[in-house]
Amino acid sequence: MNGSSRLFTGGNASTKRFWRALLAALCAVACVFSLSACGSDKEDGKIRIGIKFDQPGLGFKKSGTYVGFDVDVAKYIAKQLGYSEDQIIWKEAPSKQREAMLQNGDVDIILATYSITPERQKVITFAGPYFVAGQDLMVRAGDTSIQGPQDLNGKRLCSVTGSTSAVTVKQRFASEVQLMEQPGYAECATALFSGIVDAVTTDDIILAGLASSARGRLSVVGKPFTQEYYGVGIKKGDTALARKVNSAIKEMIADGSWKRALQENTKGAHFKPDMKYNPPKPEEGE
Ligand code: GLU
Repeated sequence: MNGSSRLFTGGNASTKRFWRALLAALCAVACVFSLSACGSDKEDGKIRIGIKFDQPGLGFKKSGTYVGFDVDVAKYIAKQLGYSEDQIIWKEAPSKQREAMLQNGDVDIILATYSITPERQKVITFAGPYFVAGQDLMVRAGDTSIQGPQDLNGKRLCSVTGSTSAVTVKQRFASEVQLMEQPGYAECATALFSGIVDAVTTDDIILAGLASSARGRLSVVGKPFTQEYYGVGIKKGDTALARKVNSAIKEMIADGSWKRALQENTKGAHFKPDMKYNPPKPEEGE
C-alpha cells in the first residue's frame, strides 16, 4: 500500500475519489507555480550522478563520503561539464533501477559498473566506455572445486537482479547451476560467507573489491569469461551530453588521471585490468 492510499483507509469509495482528485489538482497547481518539475528534486546548478553505494573500489559510501573508481571518473566528468565537487548530488543506482532512474529523470548521468548492451541502448544512451571488465567468479578462500566457468555443474551461484552477470548465467549455465538473485553484490558476498551459495559471479573488478574488503576470506577465481564495457548512462537521445562526456573521458585517459584513479582504487586488491582492452576508446555518440 502506498502513502497516498493509506490516507484514505476508512472512507467510502466516492469520498476517496473526491480527495484523490483534489490532491491531483493541488499537485498540478503546485507544479505550475514551482520552478522545478513536480516529483523531481532537480536543483539549479547541481548535477545528479547515480553510483553504487556498496561496491568497494568502485562506488562506495563511507561515512557520508563517496569513494571509488566510478566516483573519480564521475568527478572528472562533472568538472569538465562545469560542476565542482560540492555541486554533485550522489544518488544510489542499484543494478535493477538504472534504466528507470534515467528515464524518470531522477539522475543526469550514471556511473555504476554499468555495461553497455544493445538491450539497454534501446531505452537509454551510453557515453564511453571508460573501462572494460570481465565477468568472473568469487569463492570462499581455499575452495578449489571451482577453477573457472567449466566447474559450475551442480553449483549454487549468487548474482544481482538486473545485471548482465545474472543474464549471462541464465543464458549459458541455466541447465547446470542454481542462481540466487540479490539486490546487491554485498548481499551475495554474505550468502557466500554463510555457505548458502558456492560462488558469486559478476565483473572481476567488483569481485576484487569485495574480496579485498573480506580480508582473505574470499578469493576471485581469475578466469573472466565476458567483456563488460562500462558506459556512462544518460537520457536516451542526449548525444550532445554524450559527446561532452566522451571528451572528458578521453582527457582523463590522456592526462594520466584515469590510470592513477584505477591504481589508487584497486590498491591491495590483487586486481590487474586486462590491458588488451584498457584503457578503452570512448566513441559512443560521436
Ligand atoms: N557490469 C554488469 C552490469 O552492468 C554487472 C555489474 C552491475 O550489476 O553493476 O550489469
